[in-house]
Amino acid sequence: MTAQRKAVLDILEGNRSHPTVEAITEAVRQRLGYVSPATIYNTLESLCRLGLVRRVQGLEEKAHFDPDTSIHEHAICRECRAVFDVQDIEVNIPDFTPEEIVVRGICRACESRIQNRDIREDKEDEV
Ligand SMILES: [Zn+2]
Ligand SMILES: [Zn+2]
Repeated sequence: MTAQRKAVLDILEGNRSHPTVEAITEAVRQRLGYVSPATIYNTLESLCRLGLVRRVQGLEEKAHFDPDTSIHEHAICRECRAVFDVQDIEVNIPDFTPEEIVVRGICRACESRIQNRDIREDKEDEV
């Protein structure tokens, strides 16, 4: 096993944050020094092919990587791009077998941040 592959697997193990290639590259660099994102991307692709890692399609075609290869779906926050695991979504589409369901939405933290910002802006308007 190459050093990169081992580092990538270590970083992903138990990682529930569904990191992007950029985030994984950054973490590998902290261990091994400079590595290019392309190298890490290739490593991730082969880990996906081996069924050790799952690729999740994020917003703007951004890939996120998940060491949990069990059956589950994902929800993505349109503000902070955080990816959440979703256990039970059921869709029933006649004559269609869904392979991946990605729910777009907004996470609780971003929602309250936006609400607070709106309240503040309202107050500023009053002045
Ligand atoms: Zn968010
Ligand atoms: Zn997941």
